[in-house]
Amino acid sequence: MDNESRKAPQMEPLKTAHGDVVLIHYDADNHPFGVQTRTGPHGPTKHYGTDYFDFVWSRRFGCSYFHESGGGPLTPVVVFRDDWKPTLWAAACVEFNDEKGASIENLAALGWTRLPAPLANPFEGAIEGRCEYCEICNDWLPDDSLCAHLFEDERFGEVVGPGNAESIAHAKDEVLAAVRRLGCARTLRRGLPKGHAVWDDGVFGVTVGPSRSCGRSFPAEIERDTPAEVGLRWLCALGVKTTKANAAVLAWLDELIAEQDARRASGEACYVVCENRYAKPRRSELMSWDDAHAYVQRLSPKEWKARGGVWIARVVKSVARKEAA
Ligand SMILES: [Zn+2]
Repeated sequence: MDNESRKAPQMEPLKTAHGDVVLIHYDADNHPFGVQTRTGPHGPTKHYGTDYFDFVWSRRFGCSYFHESGGGPLTPVVVFRDDWKPTLWAAACVEFNDEKGASIENLAALGWTRLPAPLANPFEGAIEGRCEYCEICNDWLPDDSLCAHLFEDERFGEVVGPGNAESIAHAKDEVLAAVRRLGCARTLRRGLPKGHAVWDDGVFGVTVGPSRSCGRSFPAEIERDTPAEVGLRWLCALGVKTTKANAAVLAWLDELIAEQDARRASGEACYVVCENRYAKPRRSELMSWDDAHAYVQRLSPKEWKARGGVWIARVVKSVARKEAA
């Protein structure tokens, strides 16, 4: 018998700075992920309550982060679930029940591991704060020190980016707003699958035209906290490892390019030829894509240079804004 099993099991709550710990759930690496503390006794009936703390382990920072996730006037209890074989330590006051509320006596028979004593004080060395999970890093990152695949969308206070599956499902409008604003749909469509647009440090970047680049340096013309800015930050977070997000972006680009092709083929006069990128640009009259394209094609490199750069833009009619009376 080793020392651990000879010692009397610890059945009393573990006193900590955050309360009397009565239950600790451990993950496969023996890091705590759920902790309950007992509060009370409360009121004339002297009943006890429970506070819940969620813990996550950040490999990058080598410590646990925790936050209080709930609590109430409930006796500490663990409810059995079919598919779940936890490793835990529990004080004597914790009840173990099945889904119908009946008491469970033999935890080992269910495949549960009940440790005789806490492995450590879970709060010791842990930092209070919330974390976000990054699928690419396969790690939890504190929300003030996120990885390159996540960032805060300050409009909503949400953490988004290619490292978050939920964000991939919802980022289309923002990403396409950025692509439209930069006019980089085709460059991006060509570059992304070949990795041409990936810079040395694995961060995505694409250069559009003579002076516009999309990458770490945000073009100053994109206003803060707009969909296009969020989309641009999203694009900047793409890299060689963000394969799911890259595939999603390629599908969005294909849709956008198909729309552009249809508009160009329709003959709609919604394009202008712009000149003089380095100062106030001059614009031509509205014309069809074919006419605009033919005009630009006719220019020699010398004429192109003399005009300070030439490019085609689509004019989008802005909706008249109703001012408050
Ligand atoms: Zn990451």
